[in-house]
Amino acid sequence: MTAGPAERYPHLFTPLDLGFTTLPNRVLMGSMHTGLEDRPKHAGRLAEFYAERARGGVGLIITGGYAPNRTGWLLPLAGKMTNRREVDRHRAITTAVHDNGGRIALQLLHAGRYAYHPLSATASRSKAPITPFRARGMTGREVARTVDDFARAAVLAREAGYDGVEIMGSEGYLINQFLSERVNRRTDRWGGTPANRRRFATEIVRKTRAAVGDDFVVIYRLSVLDLVDQGQTWEDTTALAKEIEAAGATLLNTGIGWHESRVPTIVTSVPRAAFADLTARVRDEVSLPVVASNRINMPETAEELLARGDADMISMARPFLADADWVAKAADGRTDEINTCIGCNQACLDHVFAHKTVTCLVNPRAVHETELVLSRTRRVKRVAVVGAGPAGLAAATTAAERGHEVTLFEAADAIGGQFRLARRIPGKEEFAETLRYFTRRLEVLGVDVRLGHTATADELIGGDWDDVVLATGVTPRAVTIPGSDRPNVHSYAEVLTGAVQVGRRVAVVGAGGIGFDICEFLTHSAHSAEIHDLEVGQEAPSPAAWMREWGVDPTVARPGGLAVAERPEPPRQVYLLQRKKSRVGAGLGKTTGWVHRKTLKERGVEFVPGAAYSRIDDEGLHVTVGDRSRLLEVDDVVICAGQERRRELYDDLVAAGVSTHVIGGADVAAELDAQRAIAQGTDAAATL
Ligand code: FAD
Ligand code: NAP
Ligand code: SF4
Repeated sequence: MTAGPAERYPHLFTPLDLGFTTLPNRVLMGSMHTGLEDRPKHAGRLAEFYAERARGGVGLIITGGYAPNRTGWLLPLAGKMTNRREVDRHRAITTAVHDNGGRIALQLLHAGRYAYHPLSATASRSKAPITPFRARGMTGREVARTVDDFARAAVLAREAGYDGVEIMGSEGYLINQFLSERVNRRTDRWGGTPANRRRFATEIVRKTRAAVGDDFVVIYRLSVLDLVDQGQTWEDTTALAKEIEAAGATLLNTGIGWHESRVPTIVTSVPRAAFADLTARVRDEVSLPVVASNRINMPETAEELLARGDADMISMARPFLADADWVAKAADGRTDEINTCIGCNQACLDHVFAHKTVTCLVNPRAVHETELVLSRTRRVKRVAVVGAGPAGLAAATTAAERGHEVTLFEAADAIGGQFRLARRIPGKEEFAETLRYFTRRLEVLGVDVRLGHTATADELIGGDWDDVVLATGVTPRAVTIPGSDRPNVHSYAEVLTGAVQVGRRVAVVGAGGIGFDICEFLTHSAHSAEIHDLEVGQEAPSPAAWMREWGVDPTVARPGGLAVAERPEPPRQVYLLQRKKSRVGAGLGKTTGWVHRKTLKERGVEFVPGAAYSRIDDEGLHVTVGDRSRLLEVDDVVICAGQERRRELYDDLVAAGVSTHVIGGADVAAELDAQRAIAQGTDAAATL
């Protein structure tokens, strides 16, 4: 007899009895702003996005944040829940989720001083470092009115068909601002003492519960670690948790860090479930179910936390962009088919900050379900895909999923292309999951994979293919600096594959994403000498080591939980150079670039912008910066100067009349990343 979900992940698939309703499993899809919340015309697309996740078996979905009033808008004209017209619009969403067997709660979020508009208001007049607008301090009457606005919005949510609301009390938004001395310097009944500062949060929950009745889910999202100076103490946090329970919350979700915190909390280099111990400690203090969050992306991790008693439920947000069927696959014992969120933020959070609709690097259909429809083909074609980098992998699997007969040629002895190198960077261990996913997907779909096979124009022309997809990618760009042919000058690929070992003083030429990654690799203490061929789950640092390095005190001895960072001594002196005069690292991702810049700065990497490369000789690398000549006395120089496309097969194929599609780096090498490669591969295969 084959094992069922309850045997595979007994805790994950135990229903959660909330008294008036029972959730089918312990998986909560956490709130994410998709960019579709704010315009009525997008209600249908948003409904389909949630419906697909409901079909995939999520226990409870939380929407993106909606403001309880205009002052609480994150952006001008952002989504809010204040009137009947808005209620009507939300019915499309709740109906779609319920029709597909799911449950959904509306998140109520007041931005406070994180608002990006001039109406913004908070506990006391102040400006957050992440917005240009200074928030005014609320009057006492306005505070009381805001409490009522939350309760009224919850009533409207119920009318719209939602199963509950989540009151957003973490990540540094308004309620969190009221809770901390950092922002709340009031002397009235809403400030002055910890108990007064907690009053705003507890009153919101109390009035919301009174307004919606007993049979409606009220979740409170509690900040268990603020990670800012003058944040809450552990005593404040546990006192609040108990008061929230007494005020009538059904579930206590958890959040880590304010958005203005200088400690990363969800990027890929944060170890999996790094903060779950804090959730466990909160759980010891209350009797309502507590939800763990942050960097949990696979069923084993979720099951372990539940089995250990750290939490009653697991919240995951981005993993449901990466794979709508996460729960169904775990339930069916198809864990190795899960398309894992790798924590890159490139297509989700970075899109939010660029005011673009969210999607997912590993799943371009996310939030585009109604536009990127992968229908079964009516005419089965023989398709050759050349190159098994991200672009070719996406094209081959998508074409096979649509019913085509696909052969995938790859010159190397393994799939992945440049992405194989990416996963060797410390902190990017998760990238191996994407290659595991594609490996399994190729197997399941029966793609004929020919590894170690360099496809030639002749065999492609003579192969009787209906379509050829060229995904031959890129090669590292060589530079023409005098001396660049010396044996101590290497490409990033030579360094990352272990083909060469570098000395203790290194200059890195080119400060794009790969230049930064190489600096990370060279200054990471565990990678001083050897190269490890990382497999899934290997080599990630322990949460304790990571916390020491980032100055996080898990005992929260000081308000906010910050401590003095203990950075290990870097094994090398590294210089990172670019020709541009602009700030080094300015082109990195909005939500991840600061982490890379801070890490390298603290490891003593010297950033050299505005460099003109003169020559490389026995002394080292000679450069001119402004009107000053400089010698960098280095043992090795690593070139990270971008890439050139590889499309040598293209002209012959076209000349022979072969139907040829070019995708990924083979199409355009400039500004190529895996997001574009996978999206282009998927799009190309969707039209075959
Ligand atoms: P490639 O990855 O270059 O794959 C092309 C494949 O085609 C290769 O496997 C090659 O062997 C094969 N091939 C070529 N010619 C033939 C032939 N004739 N026959 C058979 N096979 C052939 N991107 C991000 O989005 N985020 C990141 O964080 C990130 N980090 C990175 C870190 C590093 C260190 C590196 C090196 C890259 C990183 N990238 C990142 C970039 C990303 O890996 C590339 O953009 C992506 O791999 C490009 O995909 P592609 O399929 O177009 O080409
Ligand atoms: P890149 O971002 O284009 O950077 C190339 C660097 O080389 C630039 O700093 C450029 O700066 C320099 N350069 C270009 N031509 C040169 C020349 N002839 N001589 C000397 N220097 C030269 O490319 P990349 O770093 O190779 O990254 C490739 C892609 O992978 C990027 O699109 C990136 O988004 C993606 N990636 C993303 C991440 C991530 O974390 N999101 C990480 C790694 C890679 P100057 O011209 O100023 O010298
Ligand atoms: Fe996860 Fe990256 Fe997809 Fe965002 S874009 S959901 S971080 S894999």
